[in-house]
Amino acid sequence: MYKILLFPGDGIGPEVTEQALRLIRKIGESFHLVFEIEEDLLGGCSIDRHGAPLTPEALKRAQNADAVYLGAVGGPKWDDVDPSLRPEKGLLALRKGLGAFANLRPVKVLGDLARISTLKEEVVRGLDFVIVRELTGGIYFGEPRGISTLADGRGEKGINTEVYTTPEIERIARKAFELARRRGRKVTSVDKANVLESSRLWRKVVVEVHKDYPDVTLDHRYVDDCAMQLIRNPRQFDVMVTTNMFGDILSDEAAMLTGSIGMLPSASVGAGAALYEPVHGSAPDIAGKNIANPLAAILSVAMMLEYSFNLHEVAHAVEKAVVKTLAEGFRTADIFEQGMNRVSCSDMGSRVLHNLSA
Ligand code: NAD
Repeated sequence: MYKILLFPGDGIGPEVTEQALRLIRKIGESFHLVFEIEEDLLGGCSIDRHGAPLTPEALKRAQNADAVYLGAVGGPKWDDVDPSLRPEKGLLALRKGLGAFANLRPVKVLGDLARISTLKEEVVRGLDFVIVRELTGGIYFGEPRGISTLADGRGEKGINTEVYTTPEIERIARKAFELARRRGRKVTSVDKANVLESSRLWRKVVVEVHKDYPDVTLDHRYVDDCAMQLIRNPRQFDVMVTTNMFGDILSDEAAMLTGSIGMLPSASVGAGAALYEPVHGSAPDIAGKNIANPLAAILSVAMMLEYSFNLHEVAHAVEKAVVKTLAEGFRTADIFEQGMNRVSCSDMGSRVLHNLSA
C-alpha cells in the first residue's frame, strides 16, 4: 500500500490535482495497486481556514506519508497578508519539514510538441534531460544578509552570501550520479569556479564524489557557458547538477525550450517523503475556467510512481498515455495549434485516462 498526501492548494491547483487524483485511482484499478489517499490544506486556502499557510498537523501528516503531492499555491487574494504568512511560505516550510534538498526537473519534449517551442524544431526534438538543483543552501539562505546604511551616509549596502559546505555538495552530487545511472550515465556540473570560491569547493567535492561512480561520465561547465549551450545544443545534456540560484535560473530557461510551463513536472527529494508538483504556479488568470493544462500535474504523478514507489512500468504507461493523447491531436489552450482538437482541463484528464493501459 502506498500512502499519498495531496495538497490541491489554490487557483488552478485543485483543478489539475483533480485530474492527477482520477489518474491515481485508475492506476490502482488497472494495475491492482492500493493507494491510501488523504487531502489537506496548504497555501492561501490554509490561511483562510487556519490563519497559517501550513499547520503543524498538516506537516506531520506529510512527514508520515510515503509521498506528498501539491497542485499549486498563491494568488492575488493573499498578496497583502503579513509576509511571514504568505502562501509560498507554507511551501518552503513543507520542503524544509520534509528535508527536501534536491529539486529534480525533467526537461522533456514529448511527441511532436517540438513544433511549439520558440527554438527550431530540430534543436529540441526528442530533448530529454534532468536538472538537479540544490534547494536548501547557497545564496538564498547564506549569512550575513541584509540591507544596512553606509557609514558615510551616502546610501545603503545590500548583502547576500553564497555558502556551501562539503556535506551539502556531497549529498546533491550523489543524487545526480545515482540518477544518471538510471539514465544516460552523464553528469554535467554547473558552477562559476573561475570567479567564486564556493564554486571551487563545489567542483572539488563533485570530482571527489565522482570517484564512487566510475561508470558515469562527468563534465563541468561555467554557468554563463551553460546558459548559452542550453539554447545552442540542449540535447548534449543528460543530468545537470547545480547550486540553488544557478538552478533556479537555468531551470526556467530550460523549461521554455519545451514550449509550455503547463507540461513540466518536478520532484523535491531528500531524506524523507518526496514532494511532487507541477512547475507552474496557481495561474490566477485562468483559475476556475477548466482550461488549465493538467499534463504537468499528470506527469508529476508519473515521477512519483518512478522515484518514490519504484513502479517504473506504471510510470512509463502514464507517459505513453500522455504521448498518445498528444499524438491524437488533443490540446489544451496553452499548447493549441491550428488543426488540433481544443479540450478543457478535465477532458484532457479523461483522454489520458482512456489511453492508459496496463
Ligand atoms: P504561474 O505559473 O501561475 O502562471 C504563469 C503563466 O502561465 C500564466 O499566464 C498562466 O495562465 C500560465 N499557466 C501556468 N500554468 C498553466 C497551466 N497548467 N496551463 C495553462 N497555462 C498555465 O506563475 P505566476 O503568474 O507568476 O504566479 C501566480 C501565483 O502562483 C503567484 O501567487 C505565485 O507566487 C504562485 N506560484 C506558486 C508556485 C507553486 O505553487 N509551486 C510556483 C510559481 C508561482
